Amino acid sequence: MPHTVPACPQCGQENTYPDGDNYICPDCAHEWPQAAAASTEDEATGDGVVRDANGNPLQDGDAVILVKDLKVKGSSSTLKKGTKIKGIRLVDGADGHNVDCKTDLGSMLLKSEFLKKA
Ligand SMILES: [Zn+2]
Repeated sequence: MPHTVPACPQCGQENTYPDGDNYICPDCAHEWPQAAAASTEDEATGDGVVRDANGNPLQDGDAVILVKDLKVKGSSSTLKKGTKIKGIRLVDGADGHNVDCKTDLGSMLLKSEFLKKA
């Protein structure tokens, strides 16, 4: 049987093995979920298309509408559901923040799953 278990993300050893929903590294006792490893791979090999809350592909310059109230990090302001944002820019931000928006509250990174194409 081929060795399909990924190397340990913590120490890099390859003596890892699957156990239930997790992978386990006997060298450093690190455990991590198999599902997370799989989704990371999907992202790496994905088609690179950014999709909105309805699954429609988004492009640079699109106008979008918020489908959810979003707290603005580091402030007490909230971007209200229904706010329209014009001229988005797709980026490869951290933690899935893949849309650069200019809003009334300034420029910020949002997740496409909270937006829908206007
Ligand atoms: Zn390890």
